[in-house]
This record gives sequence, structure tokens and C-alpha cells, in this order.
Amino acid sequence: MRVLMMTDLEGVSGVVTFRDHSYPDGRYYERSMRLLTAEVNAAVEGLLEEGATDVLVIDGHGSGGIWFEDLHPKARLLHGRLSADTLMPDDAGTYDVAMIIGQHAMAGVERGNLNHTQSSKNVEYYKLNGRLIGEIAQFALYTGALEIPMIFLSGDDAACREADELIPGITTVSVKEGLGRNSAISLSAFEARRRIGEGVKNAVVNHRKSPVAPLKWQGPYVLEKRFFHTDTADRACAMPGVERVDSQTVRLHSDNVLEIIYA
Ligand SMILES: [Zn+2]
Repeated sequence: MRVLMMTDLEGVSGVVTFRDHSYPDGRYYERSMRLLTAEVNAAVEGLLEEGATDVLVIDGHGSGGIWFEDLHPKARLLHGRLSADTLMPDDAGTYDVAMIIGQHAMAGVERGNLNHTQSSKNVEYYKLNGRLIGEIAQFALYTGALEIPMIFLSGDDAACREADELIPGITTVSVKEGLGRNSAISLSAFEARRRIGEGVKNAVVNHRKSPVAPLKWQGPYVLEKRFFHTDTADRACAMPGVERVDSQTVRLHSDNVLEIIYA
């Protein structure tokens, strides 16, 4: 079993504010990275116990979320300043299952702790074919198009609800309960890791008993992005084929979800 593990910083227990915890100049930023890395390691350990042979961890947090020195000895890390072209390995289609550790809810979810879609400072919403999507759907649709099912997610309670609604049969573990965009009730770091380790094992067992289907939506695809400011929309329009809907909104069109979902 080869595992593709997306990670993010804002759905980790103990990480609750943008200013102090998840922006690179935040006073607890390094601490947040260590917390994420420990949650990832708990998941890797659970996966190894269930027979995983390869775990590729993707550092999905823009400015970096994994504290490299502490990464589980058996995991490999895809990291750096990632773009649509480098976010996934070239052989992504050869992995058997996908999962996300440390995920937050999409932009605009009330009480979703640290809710945002890609850029917390620029994006009001993403819609794919008229339906609001966040980073969970982006990853699940990308891996789904490669026939890889997303079997597990950990994050705050709103991220877990988002995943449950999107992917029938997914196993989720909530490590904190959002009270607002910058406040939450966190489990202890120890308990969060324990639940993630158990949850990942349950996810593999559940998937073996009753396989989770790769997530696929019918094309053709229209990805609408609405930004808070006009200059972000200006920059988005520099890409060929992007349609300007209004001063703050653009649309991308494609028959291939892989080409559009991280564009
Ligand atoms: Zn994110």
C-alpha cells in the first residue's frame, strides 16, 4: 500500500490563529510546524502498522508546515515553494490511497477555525460547477481523477464535516472544535496524535472491508474564483483562457479536472 499524504498547518490541534500560529512571522510558527509534524508521524506510524510500504508526505502549507528534522524516518517529503506543476509527484497515479492531515474548512464556514481557501488574505470563495469548494475537494478531485480514493482526513470539526459531506465512507478525526476563525477548543497534543494514529488504522481497515470510491464529478469543469481585491483578479487573468466575470471574479474552463483544480 502506497500512500499520498497531503498536509496543512491550520487544522492541527494547538494551531488556532493566523497571526501567531500559521503565518511565517508568527511567534509560534515553528511550534506549529512541530505540532503538525508530530500529527503526521502518528499517521505514518498507524499506516506502517497496517502494512503501508511507502508514505509520501506533501507539505501543502504555502510557507512550509513540516519540521523536517522530526519527520518519521520511514516517510518521504515533497516540499518547497510548490506550484500547480510541482504540488504532486510525477507518479501520483501509482499511489493506492490518499489522505489529509491538518486540514481546515473552506473559506466562509462559520466557526470553521482558520477557514480559508488557498489564500487566507485573497480568496473569498472557489466554486466548481456552481458548488462551493475548498482545499479538501481540490485534493480529493485531483486524486480521484487518478483513481485514488481519499480514505482519511484529520482537522478541525468543520473540516471533518466538509469531508464527510464530500466523500462517502471517508474516516475523519477531529482534533479541535472551532469557536471562531481565530479560536477553538483543542485536544491535547498527545490525545490528538493518539486519535489520528487510531483513525488512520480504522480508515485502512474500513477501506479494505468496504472500499471508498475515488471522488469524481462530471465535466466539463468551470472553476469560479472570487477574490477580495481587484488586483488579485488582474493577476489571475494573466493566465491564458481565463474569463473575467467582474472586477473581483474570474472563471477557468477545462474538460480535465487535473488541469484546472490547482490552476
Ligand atoms: Zn490550507
